[in-house]
Amino acid sequence: MAPLSVLEELVDALRCLPGVGPKSAQRMAYHLLQRNQSGAQRLSRALLQAVEVLRHCGRCNAFSETEVCERCTSSRRDPTLLCVVEMPADLNTMEQTHAYRGLYYVLMGHLSPLDGIGPKELHLDRLLARALDGTVQEVILATNFTNEGEATAHYLGEMLRVRGLRVSRIARGVPVG
Ligand code: ZN
Repeated sequence: MAPLSVLEELVDALRCLPGVGPKSAQRMAYHLLQRNQSGAQRLSRALLQAVEVLRHCGRCNAFSETEVCERCTSSRRDPTLLCVVEMPADLNTMEQTHAYRGLYYVLMGHLSPLDGIGPKELHLDRLLARALDGTVQEVILATNFTNEGEATAHYLGEMLRVRGLRVSRIARGVPVG
């Protein structure tokens, strides 16, 4: 097979974005090249930098530029409360309510047996270690209200309760997710 041309390579690369098929990848490529070259340059630099610099915070598992993120080291937060969310976006939504002052743990997904994502793939051992640090007293499960989110909350609830932690499920209707 002949190697991809520079243009083909760009179109093909854009297809790694979720929901982007060949047609929209082509549109994006032409738009960037024809109408927004400085935007394209900025995008490529930002992507490269993000991939090189960002890692998972050792405590909350969210993306961070440092070993432990600023939120996790903040003295203005209640370290006895740990809220479990699925994705960083869910954390942001929760923060916007200004109703929660504790710390977080981001699962980066949910249990989904059909997709082969079980407790091991979701690295629930890390959450367990985090929740059992001796300071956390209550875990608030704020996974989404989808079937997978509910099943994940149920599993986590069992897992944490038998270890003596207080566990609550965030009420439906609270604007999260
Ligand atoms: Zn953190």
